[in-house]
Amino acid sequence: MQYYGINDANPDALRGRTIVIYGYGSQGRAHARNLHESGMTVVVAARPGKSFDQAKADGLAVDTPERAIPTADLIALLTPDMQQPELYEKHIAPLAREGAALLFAHGFNVHYKQISPRKDLDVILVAPKGPGALVRRQYEEGRGVPSLMAVFQDATGKAKELALAYAHGIGGTRGGVMETNFAEETETDLFGEQAVLCGGATELVAVGFETLVEAGYQPEVAYFEVLHELKLIVDLLWEGGFARMHEFISETAQYGDLTRGPRVVDAHTREQMRAILREIQDGTFARQWVAEHKAGRANYDALKQKDLEHPIEVVGKKLRARMPWLQEAAQGKAKPKAV
Ligand code: NDP
Ligand code: MG
Ligand code: MG
Repeated sequence: MQYYGINDANPDALRGRTIVIYGYGSQGRAHARNLHESGMTVVVAARPGKSFDQAKADGLAVDTPERAIPTADLIALLTPDMQQPELYEKHIAPLAREGAALLFAHGFNVHYKQISPRKDLDVILVAPKGPGALVRRQYEEGRGVPSLMAVFQDATGKAKELALAYAHGIGGTRGGVMETNFAEETETDLFGEQAVLCGGATELVAVGFETLVEAGYQPEVAYFEVLHELKLIVDLLWEGGFARMHEFISETAQYGDLTRGPRVVDAHTREQMRAILREIQDGTFARQWVAEHKAGRANYDALKQKDLEHPIEVVGKKLRARMPWLQEAAQGKAKPKAV
């Protein structure tokens, strides 16, 4: 495994060259600000509206995609994945300079052939393994979110050097940059968010909450037990793995964990995880999501609405209002999306 640190990047590969950040949301805003403060030349490309105004208010150079993209040595396409193919066709394919670099933070569109990049472009990936807000906050604190890096197309012979310099500029080399390829990043990222981080974790929380409430326990107590405390456990895992968690939880909790955990996540769950991974690998998930997007997202909207109306959200809002520091944390993270 290739693993790069702060001394392995050559920031001069990007210094003095123009980096256009197209999309100023969760990742785009963090990348643009970090690169700017790392001494890089950054121009944000945005349509008129919220992002355009925010980038200006943050003190960055902002322009329309039509004007910014032709000036770019490197274009980071950081709009939502489903918007990227259209924006690539409209603004990047016709306007990007010969030999420019095109950078993604997730390999979805290249891997599933929703975008077929021009042959003269370097096509690279820098994917921080954390939400944009954390990419920003850790950078400000002198730290960095570990990132994956990959090269899909090396037209100029400089693709890898550019990707590493970019990863360095956003703070990634402080946490470590691992080399991968578009297929591995795309498939593992989708699997992680579906089976464990988002899909798996929220479903575990929801079903745990429902089980306690159905049995007559107070929803407030259930909320603290299955949602609020989850962060404390995840923090321990994050800091020091299973060993650190075991150090901090009671023996009773450990015995319950070791004997009951495998009953919750059992052979059926394992089989479902494998099936979910197969659907990612054979393109079933990607086809379904692209079709959903193209058909107007009615199903996605309905499912999301249902999630937002879950009873745990009602009690959660009430309880979080009693902890003002949580509100501050939420406001600091304009869009705490991670995956
Ligand atoms: P966001 O949803 O936060 O992106 C929103 C931005 O895209 C806004 O600036 C918005 O501008 C702009 N945008 C949306 N649609 C259009 C459009 N049609 N034309 C022009 N601009 C548009 O994206 P993320 O940061 O979540 O994701 C960006 C990439 O990073 C994706 O590839 C994602 O998979 C990847 N990624 C994301 C992570 C995360 O933490 N969210 C983690 C790792 C990778 P406006 O204000 O004008 O609408
Ligand atoms: Mg869920
Ligand atoms: Mg993702």
